[in-house]
Amino acid sequence: MAELMPRPKKTRYVAQEPGVTFFKPRGIPLRNLEQVIITVDELEALRLSDFLGLSHEEAGQQLKVSRPTVTRMLAKAHQAIADALVNGKAIKIEGGFYSLNYLFRCPQCGHQWSAPENSPEVQVCLKCDQPVSKSP
Ligand SMILES: [Zn+2]
Repeated sequence: MAELMPRPKKTRYVAQEPGVTFFKPRGIPLRNLEQVIITVDELEALRLSDFLGLSHEEAGQQLKVSRPTVTRMLAKAHQAIADALVNGKAIKIEGGFYSLNYLFRCPQCGHQWSAPENSPEVQVCLKCDQPVSKSP
């Protein structure tokens, strides 16, 4: 199965799974609706850039992708959202190449950072070299 699939893109790291994954115009039955799709990593780019106001550079650091990749993800998401709003389509949020980032906090010095689970950078605090475990 894996050999038949296109080479996966670089994993993007997102802070949370989306709470809501479907938006539809009121009063139109689902069967009559066209829908556009935004991936979970594109939604995270929207959250970081358009909602929190981070630069594409900063958003790229969170997602662990390059600035041009963020710009491209945003352009695709903006196009999809515009299509939905202008043409009255539903928006579905699903898929994408991503892993969840977890929040880590050093019990020794209180330093906080986010990283994917099981990555080497979560084993010790970046500030004081104390071993660290995942916090909820
Ligand atoms: Zn520390």
